Amino acid sequence: MLSRRTDEALELFLQMAKVDDETLETHFALGHLFRQRGEMERAIRVHQNLLARPNLSQAQRDQALYALGEDYLGAGLFDRAETLFTDLTDSDTVATSALERLVYIYEREQEWEQAIDAQRRLEARSGEKSSHIAHYYCELAERARRDGDLSRARDYLKNTVRSEAGALRGALIRAAIAKEEDDHEQALGLYEQVLDKDSRFMPEVLPELFDCYAQTRRMPDFDRFIDALVARDQTAVGHIAYASIVGKLAGSQALARCVEEFVYGEETLARLVDVDSLRSSTPEHKSRALERISNALRNLGLASARYRCTNCGFSTRRFIWHCPSCKLWETLRPIQRFQLESVMG
Ligand SMILES: [Zn+2]
Repeated sequence: MLSRRTDEALELFLQMAKVDDETLETHFALGHLFRQRGEMERAIRVHQNLLARPNLSQAQRDQALYALGEDYLGAGLFDRAETLFTDLTDSDTVATSALERLVYIYEREQEWEQAIDAQRRLEARSGEKSSHIAHYYCELAERARRDGDLSRARDYLKNTVRSEAGALRGALIRAAIAKEEDDHEQALGLYEQVLDKDSRFMPEVLPELFDCYAQTRRMPDFDRFIDALVARDQTAVGHIAYASIVGKLAGSQALARCVEEFVYGEETLARLVDVDSLRSSTPEHKSRALERISNALRNLGLASARYRCTNCGFSTRRFIWHCPSCKLWETLRPIQRFQLESVMG
């Protein structure tokens, strides 16, 4: 009933109101209101009505077209929205906004080549470099790698050094390619480079690095790398222990030392484990006890979310660069800790 009345009132308004400078703002306000309330059909009706009038200035027409594009986007009609926004990329008034909306659409649709093109046009307008283009190239490189086209993947990767995160991500993809081609020497160099720059990648990278050293039978070198990492940054111990426990990395003395130190230092764990007697027990007993503790912690770690978006709180077990919930880039962070409170009650 209410809905029918709204439609009748809307029709009456649209028929009666001449589109002049005074009612123009009312049209836009009304269209905006409908869209905000999720009533896309009504919003579309208002904006189409505006566009049917011959006496609009170019700027007014562009504004109405842009608003209609927003309605289409809200209604999930991406193709129509794309067409409208594409037509507006040469507008004197709304070109920048139209390009931003196109980027949004291409990211959603994973049309990375087109996202690059739109983002470059935005760069040309604003004079500011976008950090996202590097990610688009990484996405293309990952796609090419999945398709088995490694030389194409390498071509895309040449463009990833545009931003710091892009360079890191590019190095990770390069390392994965090298590993695929059994070039463990190159892969481990790249993995070490990533860990040196940003220890947040520990849970992702440590198992890969460990594997490269294991394949090349160079575990003493791996231990040296870990020891150097800890010597430089003591806070790395917790991250290394976490990655080592969850990744079930066995056979490295340096990792075992990190796990031991982590167990002794974890306050919540100290309520479950008699740290003093563990510390003074025989090496065999100690290593068996640490293994049992690690197994329990691994189960806890694998059962919980391992990454969380700092913007919207979305959590996931796998690392991703583009938050699927809020659509921001580089907002996911590894949690890198065992949620012991959950089992302690
Ligand atoms: Zn998010």
